[in-house]
Amino acid sequence: MEVILAETAGFCMGVDMALTKLDHLVGEPDGHPIYILGPIIHNPQVLKRYAEKGVVMVHDPAEVPAGAHVVIRAHGITRQVEESLRARNVLIKDATCPRVKKAQLLIERNTADGGELLLYGEADHPEVAGLVSYAQGGHFVFGSSEELAGHALTPGKRYVLAAQTTQDRVQFESIAKDLAGRGDIEVAVLETICDATKLRQTEARDLAQNVDFMVVVGGYNSGNTRRLAQVVSEQGTPCKHVETVDELPLDELARYKRIGVTAGASTPRLLIDEVLAGLESL
Ligand code: SF4
Repeated sequence: MEVILAETAGFCMGVDMALTKLDHLVGEPDGHPIYILGPIIHNPQVLKRYAEKGVVMVHDPAEVPAGAHVVIRAHGITRQVEESLRARNVLIKDATCPRVKKAQLLIERNTADGGELLLYGEADHPEVAGLVSYAQGGHFVFGSSEELAGHALTPGKRYVLAAQTTQDRVQFESIAKDLAGRGDIEVAVLETICDATKLRQTEARDLAQNVDFMVVVGGYNSGNTRRLAQVVSEQGTPCKHVETVDELPLDELARYKRIGVTAGASTPRLLIDEVLAGLESL
């Protein structure tokens, strides 16, 4: 059996930077407790390791005490939460991914004259909450062109179209084209989709077309990992999304000749290596 690992499998730049900042704090304790606001990475195995080292995860920013460190994860936070943390003298270590930060600032700048933000993304995703908090003239979040069609757009009004960084570029471009084709509204389209996501998806698509089976490694609660599994399934290639090597259906896999492996942007190298070793043992 041949096992082929996608070149882009594993941590993206933003996740890598956020974990490096947290590792730095954990490795050089200064007496101040360390908090994270929600999971710093969508991977239960890594989160467990940090919890064992004393990192406290809370979901409510009010639970972070004054004087504690709080590491802002790559998704970013809303500007209101950031302001409230600063007002309470919480020590902020901002590990917002530079690409998410850029998207927040682009939205802020482009909606400064009151244009309404139309954001293509998952309404309940923390990155989306952060992005829309920078919109100056109202916002609407939609997950599909059908949902956008159900939102009444006012002729003559100015709109700003943007996407959550991990959204599918092809679908976003099609939405942008449809809006531009209306002619009765003014639409500014912002470039906020991250290439890390696009590269992973393109590579997963190509790999899926050349193997008999695909394994996608990553947290079940990781949006970009789930989307990778979806992209692969759309190619018609059988696929299994696993969090760890123990979940590999080894009996089923033994009959395949070529197996492709990819992993989400929040999947640690160790877990990928364990899956590779499990497959190579076949
Ligand atoms: S996927 Fe892109 S935008 Fe999101 S954290 Fe990674 S590098 Fe940043």
